[in-house]
Parts: sequence; structure tokens; C-alpha cells
Amino acid sequence: MSVDYSKYLRNEKLPLSWCPGCGTGTVLKALLIAIDELGWKKDDIVLVSGIGCAARGAGYVDFHTFHTLHGRAIPAATAIKMCHPHMHVIVFSGDGDMMAIGGNHFIHGCRRNVDLTLIVVDNWIYGMTGGQYSPLTPTGSKASTMPRGNIDPTFDVVELARGAGATFVARGSVAEPVLLKTYIKKGLAHAGTSVIDALSNCHVQFGRRNKLNDPVKLVHHIKDSTVRRSAMAKMKPEELAGKLATGIFVEDTSKKEYTRAYRELVKMAQSPG
Ligand code: SF4
Repeated sequence: MSVDYSKYLRNEKLPLSWCPGCGTGTVLKALLIAIDELGWKKDDIVLVSGIGCAARGAGYVDFHTFHTLHGRAIPAATAIKMCHPHMHVIVFSGDGDMMAIGGNHFIHGCRRNVDLTLIVVDNWIYGMTGGQYSPLTPTGSKASTMPRGNIDPTFDVVELARGAGATFVARGSVAEPVLLKTYIKKGLAHAGTSVIDALSNCHVQFGRRNKLNDPVKLVHHIKDSTVRRSAMAKMKPEELAGKLATGIFVEDTSKKEYTRAYRELVKMAQSPG
């Protein structure tokens, strides 16, 4: 992945505020390389985020950007896409922001099939706000608000997105960044709502409470916790226990994209008779 991605950054904003070794930078780099490979112009891209560590990505990229309220990135992105259908609109935010506070917006965003790419930087915790558990914190893991271990079951982002109607759904991880970039690129090119669950390491807020406070150790843990979808058929149920599958799970081009459907409706309403 040898791309000069600095041309996509607001270099005057550097250095990044992310902790050294944070996986968010890897996810952002995968996104920038995917954009470079697609040959998109910076002026045609809008990156929208909510609040949190990952959401700070909106401050660093040299696109049109909108850093919104906590959890509200998807409705803002939807409004931007409705008004500017030619723009490529991307939501880049964390699991706390998109799956908890913005969970309602997530399911309705997927349901409508607006041409948005939703990148969930899924590090299993609220990072910036103090290490509180999120709906993606693994059951049994510790968080500042679950110091004896999380008793909640977790959402499966892939199944939630699929069930809500997203027409492209993939999961990758920072342990396999080239594959992650491939999934993001396919999601960006997809005309409809695409969701990429990007498993990422927060060794500071998640890791230090769970004996994984070294970024390399946590990335290895993420690798060990995942299995490529293509390899699953040959594996025994006991080998698959507790693993998250990575790969592309949904790629559906049959459903009409929302901004197109809306414009057709307006044209129909305005036509005489
Ligand atoms: S707190 Fe976690 S998610 Fe936030 S910058 Fe540090 S390592 Fe990354």
C-alpha cells in the first residue's frame, strides 16, 4: 500500500491526536488508499463523523468534512447526499457513536439504502469519553463502567446491517489491512448503503483493562478472534467458537438507491396529470 496519502490530509493539523499505535490510523489509511485507487477527486468527497476518537478523522482529511453531534453522523450524511447526490459521502466513526448513541440512525440508514459508506471503527469501547462499554464490547471484557466484566450480549454489526437492509456489508480488521482496504473500496464503489465493520485496536481504553495494553498484542488478539469467511467451511464448530467472520457478506444491487428513488418520485409528482 505505497501511496502518498499525505495529499489527502490537512498536514497543518498533524500530529494526530490518536495514541501511538491506535488502529484508527490504520483504518483511515486503508480508506485513503481505497479512495486513491478509485481516483476520486477530493472536492467530490464528504467525510462525516460524530464524536469520539475515530470521529476526529474528520479534522485530518482534506475533503469536505462535517464533525457532527454524538451519534448524529448518519442523518447529517443523509441530508448531504440528498442535497448533493453527485458527492461521495462517507461516515467514519466509532462503535460507541454509530452503534449505541447513533444506533437508531444506523438501522434506518441501512433500511433506506441511501448511497452512503458507513465505516464503523469497531474497537469494542468508548475511547475518547473514558473507556465505557459499548454494544460491541465483548461479553466478559472489562470497561470503566463494567469493571468486573461486561454482562451484556454484543451486537453483530454484520447481522444488524444485513437485517436492517444494507445492500453491501463487510467486516475486516486492522490485522489484515490490505483486505480491509479491499472491502472499503468495494463499499465505496457500491451504489447504496454500504457498511464496513472495521475491527480496530484501542489498546489504551480497552486493552489496558483487559491485559492487552500493547498495540501489537491486541492486533494479534483481533487476528486470533477472527476467521476469514472463505475458510469457515473447512473448520470444525469448536474451531469457530467465539470467532468473528471477516469478508463480504452482502452485495445486493437489486434494491433502488434512495436519492434516485426520491428524485423519480418528485418528477412523477410534478408531471401533469
Ligand atoms: S483511546 Fe483508544 S481509540 Fe482513542 S486514540 Fe487512544 S488507542 Fe485510539
